Formats: sequence, structure tokens, C-alpha cells
Amino acid sequence: MNFKSTHTNIEIAIIGGGVAGLCTAIALKDIGIRVTVYERVNQLKGLGAGFGLAANAMQALAYLGLREGVEKIGHFLDSYNILDHQGRILLSPDTSLLSDRYQEDNFAIHRADLHRFLIDQLPKECIILGKEAIKISEKEEKTIIHFADGTSANVDAVIVADGVHSKIRRQIIPTASTRYSGYTCWRGVISNSTVKLKSSSETWGPAGRFGMTPLVNGRIYWYACINAPEKSPLYKTYKTADLLRVFKNYHAPIPKIIGETDDEQLLWNDIVDIAPLKKLAYNKILFIGDAGHATTPNMGQGACQAIEDAVVLQDELKKSKNIVQSFQQFEQRRLKRTRYITNTSWQIGKVAQWDSIFMIGFRNTIMRLLPDSIKQIQLRKLLNEDFMSTHK
Ligand SMILES: Cc1cc2nc3c(=O)[nH]c(=O)nc-3n(C[C@H](O)[C@H](O)[C@H](O)COP(=O)(O)OP(=O)(O)OC[C@H]3O[C@@H](n4cnc5c(N)ncnc54)[C@H](O)[C@@H]3O)c2cc1C
Repeated sequence: MNFKSTHTNIEIAIIGGGVAGLCTAIALKDIGIRVTVYERVNQLKGLGAGFGLAANAMQALAYLGLREGVEKIGHFLDSYNILDHQGRILLSPDTSLLSDRYQEDNFAIHRADLHRFLIDQLPKECIILGKEAIKISEKEEKTIIHFADGTSANVDAVIVADGVHSKIRRQIIPTASTRYSGYTCWRGVISNSTVKLKSSSETWGPAGRFGMTPLVNGRIYWYACINAPEKSPLYKTYKTADLLRVFKNYHAPIPKIIGETDDEQLLWNDIVDIAPLKKLAYNKILFIGDAGHATTPNMGQGACQAIEDAVVLQDELKKSKNIVQSFQQFEQRRLKRTRYITNTSWQIGKVAQWDSIFMIGFRNTIMRLLPDSIKQIQLRKLLNEDFMSTHK
């Protein structure tokens, strides 16, 4: 079937220009669909420090022809350890398992670098900035997006990629709401650090969790999670000096990395997800990325799943010219995998954030004693499933 000829008259709008929206725009454009991304902000900068692109995401990027470009701006990760607060190894997940399974490596990347790269793959006229979608309606064969500035867009279908706090999800699925994880998180990136970080790690200790990863050009991305009430006015005012106080007894180079971070570089968010949805496809409206399956960051899979979404949707749209059917097939292929990640990540977060000395001692002893085969169980489950498989 000559796919391009079947879809040339179709116009799809994407709400949100994050990783999910941009990758999906690239995927749809590549198969000849006219696509427009409507983004709320006036400038797309890719806020949010860095993140890991695991081998499954690199494979999805390869399907889109983007792997080599991303590898050039990503930092190759050859290892990852979970440590206790004194720096002793608790778990050394075998990331080579993931690489072998997908025949790809694991990378860390600065979010702004990835955004710039993805934007460069799209014609300028594909992205319209300063357009906040507030509502979607359907009239006859058309789907209509209503924007905050009073304008609207009539298209054949809409892909909703407006993130975990999705306004459109609130309209279409009012019962779905965000869940607060019980921990709050600061993120930062430092350039020209005196610390020459070689590998990526996450430290679990009584004061909270601290993760650090090298990026290209000598930069370091880090995050710190501590247990806290939701939307705490106290933590809202926290600066690096406060975090330094919290993590002062943690192993090197954690205090140094916090100390070298400018306060203006600090990003603060409560960690939330959404309880797994029962549906992602609503006639000609489809939820993808965090808007459809936001997860806590404990498996480093949120953006990776958004990239997989783009590839699976492209695959389904290639097979059928019936958009409703393609959206339903997409839902079938994505619900189980994303539900597994959301639920597992939620559980990992609970254990990683234990702050009772007794429970920490128990957890750390078990983690040291357990055989590797058991410790890697979550990783294996993620691996056992090929995201491109159509058998669910
Ligand atoms: C601390 C932390 C660490 C993480 N680490 C990792 C990691 O290591 N690996 C990984 O894979 N993932 C990680 N993630 C998850 C990852 O950041 C998200 O899963 C990913 O960014 C989701 O992309 P998205 O495009 O769905 O949503 P977003 O990135 O939230 O993008 C949504 C876009 O929609 C726009 N928008 C919002 N509302 C509207 C509207 N009404 N109209 C128009 N536009 C709108 C927003 O401005 C934004 O540009 C982490 C997340 C956190 C919080």
C-alpha cells in the first residue's frame, strides 16, 4: 500500500510541544500527514534539566531516523548504581541487559538540547506557539480545538500531549486526576563543575534521594527528592543552601555538586503521576505522553514512553486510513505497558523514599543480600516486552 497517498488529505493537530508532541509530529509528518503542534508557551526551551534515554527510547528514536542525531548530543551511560548515603553500592542494575535487548545504548541528555534537536526536524510552520488549548469539541466529521485567545482550529483528529496536568484530560476524563507521590523534587544542571563525574548514580538515604548524571560538554544533571507535604510553602522557598543542609552527610561529591549550583538553576516540582487510565482513545481524540500515562520518574521511563508512543502511533496510522481504528489499536498496544511502568515506578518510589532508620537498615541489608537475578526483576519485565509487538 502506498501509505502517503492514503493520508495526504488528513490534518491532525497536536496539543503540546513537549517530547511527546514533537516526536509524534515528526512521526506523522514522515508518513505524509499534515500536522500542526499548538503549544501554550511563547518560546520552547525544554525546561527541566536532564533525563535518561534508555535503550528502548533509543530504539524508538532509531525507528524515527533520529538516533544518530540524538547520540551526538547525548552522554553515553555505561553504568548506573544505586548507593546508600555513605556511597556503598546497594544495587548495580545491569543496564547492558537493556542495551542487548534493544541493540542500543543508554544515554543521558539535557532537555533543552533534545528540544532544540526535535524542533529542528520540523518545518517552522508546523509549530504554533502561544496557543493554549482550553477545550475540544466535535462537529460532524471535524474535531475543533478552542484556544484561550478566542480562536479555534478545525482538524480531522487531535492528539493530546499537554503533559501531566493536561487541561484537555480534565475536560474529556474528569474523573482522572493527578496523584501526589509524597515526595518533592529539585533539579539542577551545572556547567564547568570542578567535579569530574564519570558515571550515573542514585543515592538512597535517610534524608532523601539524590541522583546525578554526567551530560555532554562537562555538564552535570542532578535531582534531589525528599518526603514532604504537597505544595509545601516551606519547600517553595528552598535554595541550594537549604538543600546542602539536608544532604550534608551524604557521600562525595553530593554536597559539592549542590554547592556549585546557582539558585537560579534550581527547578522545583512535587512529584505526581496519574493513576493508569482505562482508555487513551476517545473517537478522534487520543491521549499520549504524560497527558495519557504520566509516571513518577523512578524508572526513568516517562519521556522514553512518550517516544515509544510516537513510533507505535506512526505504525498504526500506516496500517489503516481509518483514524478512529488506528487510535483504538494504539490504545490496545500502549495501555498494558504504560500501566506496568506507572504502577512499578510508584512502588519503587515508596521503598526508595523510606526515611525510618529501621526500615532503611532492613531494606539496605536485603538489597545487598538478594541475588542479582531477583534484583533485576523489574528491568527484565520491561525487557521481556517489545514495544513494537502487536500481540497483547
Ligand atoms: C524529576 C523528573 C525526572 C525525570 N527523569 C526522567 C528520565 O530520566 N527519563 C525519562 O524518560 N523521563 C523522565 N522524566 C519524565 C519526563 O520528564 C516526562 O515523562 C516527559 O517530559 C513527558 O513529556 P510530554 O511531552 O508528555 O509532557 P511535557 O514535557 O509536560 O510537555 C507538555 C507540553 O504541553 C504544553 N502545554 C500544556 N498545556 C497546554 C495547553 N493547554 N495548550 C497547549 N500546550 C500546552 C506545555 O507547555 C509543554 O510544552 C522525569 C520527570 C521528572 C519530574
